[in-house]
Amino acid sequence: MPEVKASKPPKIKAAAKMKQIMSDHFYELDKAMKSKTQKIAWCTSVGPAELLRSMGFLVYFPENHGAILGATRQATDFIPIANSIGYSPEICSYLTSDVGAYLKKKTPLSQVYPGIESVPKPDILVFNTNQCRDVQDWFSFYAREFKVPIIGIETHRGVGEVQAAHIKSVADQMQGLVPKLEEISGQKFDLGELKRVVGLSLECSQLWRKVLETASAVPSPINFFDGTIHMGPAVVMRGTQVAVDYYKELLAELEERVKNKVAAVAGEKHRLYWDGMPIWGKLRPMAELFNSLNTCVVASTYCNSWIFDDFDPGDPFNSMARAYVQLFIVRSDEAKEKYIEDMVKKFKLDGIIFHDCKTCPNNTNARYGMPQRLQKRFGIPNIVVAGDLNDLRCYSEEQTKTVIEAFVEQLNK
Ligand code: SF4
Repeated sequence: MPEVKASKPPKIKAAAKMKQIMSDHFYELDKAMKSKTQKIAWCTSVGPAELLRSMGFLVYFPENHGAILGATRQATDFIPIANSIGYSPEICSYLTSDVGAYLKKKTPLSQVYPGIESVPKPDILVFNTNQCRDVQDWFSFYAREFKVPIIGIETHRGVGEVQAAHIKSVADQMQGLVPKLEEISGQKFDLGELKRVVGLSLECSQLWRKVLETASAVPSPINFFDGTIHMGPAVVMRGTQVAVDYYKELLAELEERVKNKVAAVAGEKHRLYWDGMPIWGKLRPMAELFNSLNTCVVASTYCNSWIFDDFDPGDPFNSMARAYVQLFIVRSDEAKEKYIEDMVKKFKLDGIIFHDCKTCPNNTNARYGMPQRLQKRFGIPNIVVAGDLNDLRCYSEEQTKTVIEAFVEQLNK
């Protein structure tokens, strides 16, 4: 096959709208905090956002702030501040960078959004341990700081087949949150409103799935690095019409690209899967590296984590429980391997990159033999890249570049 030179990837036009949505989200929270017109709940990224929204809260996601700290490459400055009060450099670097920024009274939001001086203060903190225990510790720090209630859901982890008992446990715990949420919001729980919000979340989720699945086309119109940016509304605005409208627009643009064979990576020769967290501070150089290698990272566990097929407005509590237990990160290695095998087929993949993320063992699948088992089972080549989501001291750009280039070279043979 003749060598195809890399050219600049085309820009996704919907990005301008996405930026506006994120801006509106932060200004709305800031206004609510300053005017005290609406209560604010902090929620973990795969926590019960639908319930909170249905009870009149504005919802803020500290993990999104953690990702912004990482993407703006400020995280590494703040992590040592959290380390100095006893939060280990070994634990989640979203947590340590976010806590460090708080202690330093800084936020990148101030640089991007004039007039915003701090993250919005919470009236209540709501977690779900479905992803990890760190979120509970993280929110507990802020509960002590702001002297506000913390409530949450404890989910089974390492789940093989999702059983009725798992669903019942989580659904009961979700319902158990209602009295405290009523007390803080001053608003009575309204089942009809919850159904409406779950319906919107379902629609958002279905559209987000379709967006990601456009990458099954050859060439793919979108790559993983685009996905990490465009997932913003699915994370922070799910359960709203705004998110639904956004993904309709993005989907139409990508379908048009598929029709016209517009590639995210010009001259796409290889198609890879990314497992694990993004390396937020290195998205652009990584995208450029893969682009120069005519290799598209077409799919990922991470972006798929905001697909909640099980939402059912007719049965909101049970369906939310199922959706939040079905997630990849909650599951056993066996279930995860089956999932990745399906991804390899669906997206016509040539290889897998496992990110061994130093401070997030919860979203790292390279430490207990999974890459070797997958290679043995269906011969898919893979590499393990050492790094971190936010702590760039754990990442060597040169070493990673060499490993990735050698991997692609091997695929070329
Ligand atoms: S899943 Fe990983 S990155 Fe996310 S909050 Fe937990 S430890 Fe941090």
